[in-house]
Amino acid sequence: MATHEYEVVIVGAGPAGMCAGLYTGRSMLRSVVLERGFPGGELLNTEVIEDYIGFEHVLGHELASKFQAHAEKFGAEIRTSTPIDSVTRRADGLFDCVTESGDVYVAPTVIVTAGGTPVKLDVPGEIEYAGKGVSYCAICDGAFYKGHTILVVGGGDAACEEADFLTRYAEKVYLVHRRDTFRASKLVQQRAFANPKIEVITDTVVDEICGADGLMTHARIRNLKTGTASELVATGIFIFVGFKPNTGIIRDHVEHDAAGYLITDAMMQTSVPGLFAAGDVRAQLTRQVTTAVGDATTAAIGVEKYLTARKNGQPVPAAPPMLGASA
Ligand SMILES: Cc1cc2nc3c(=O)[nH]c(=O)nc-3n(C[C@H](O)[C@H](O)[C@H](O)COP(=O)(O)OP(=O)(O)OC[C@H]3O[C@@H](n4cnc5c(N)ncnc54)[C@H](O)[C@@H]3O)c2cc1C
Repeated sequence: MATHEYEVVIVGAGPAGMCAGLYTGRSMLRSVVLERGFPGGELLNTEVIEDYIGFEHVLGHELASKFQAHAEKFGAEIRTSTPIDSVTRRADGLFDCVTESGDVYVAPTVIVTAGGTPVKLDVPGEIEYAGKGVSYCAICDGAFYKGHTILVVGGGDAACEEADFLTRYAEKVYLVHRRDTFRASKLVQQRAFANPKIEVITDTVVDEICGADGLMTHARIRNLKTGTASELVATGIFIFVGFKPNTGIIRDHVEHDAAGYLITDAMMQTSVPGLFAAGDVRAQLTRQVTTAVGDATTAAIGVEKYLTARKNGQPVPAAPPMLGASA
């Protein structure tokens, strides 16, 4: 077990973490990016990206490699296979970031860029056809389904809103929900239900995602009230049954929204002084690569200001709260 001292520790090497590392590296801060797996985050689960400005068509893992090379060129130190178990603010204002193997990374600032995890249906075929029919992101993958028939699974705002959004591309959208009432707000429900391209199927679960030649072709569904099983022919399935931000490592009380996303001010600082957050882990309108790297840029510059103030014994700089953020 070893102790390492830095000026800033960045937890997670997805787009946000690598971008934050680039900026802190360029600012000559002693910084480290700690990643539990390989650098790339959700990019490694994404086949193709077509909406990152400057790249009309880039493979997820290619963009991840470019981010890593660029960040490292500017001085980011990325440590892989280093899962962080806990982040705790000490009485002296320093943070202890403890790895699963017991190593401690100590720093006056931490940027949490640990992202989040879409909740899976956990049915056969879901992993096999990931990126080949199975998606958790309508903005990202909707355009690949022009003229297709697809399924959307879920009963909340995300499912209803994204089903409606996906009809821009898809010829037909089945909205499949396991209950007979939806959790989505009334207005969002009404808009989805009034859309002639959407067929709502209630009391029904997806049992299996099936395909041929590596691509999804249909789903096996089952009505929970009657027990009747059937097949829906569809080339895509968009799953919106929840998204969990990876915030369990933070041991201090920190403000978050109802879904657990971290609330920050405009400088990306959380309610814990010196603890910053960027990317998918943060409460915000949308979650994209562009927003993750934008947040990270702001967070890295916020960290610099925080450290300068701390060094000079000045009050910690505070930015106004983000509009729309709620506890
Ligand atoms: C299937 C899919 C397709 C997508 N397609 C697009 C697209 O086309 N365009 C687009 O703009 N966006 C797309 N997105 C969204 C985009 O990938 C995310 O918004 C972006 O990756 C968020 O970056 P992030 O760095 O905040 O988080 P992430 O990418 O989730 O990275 C978080 C990193 O933190 C690490 N981590 C987590 N916990 C710990 C811990 N305790 N210790 C150490 N490391 C930890 C993780 O291993 C991961 O590497 C897609 C998302 C998915 C799921």
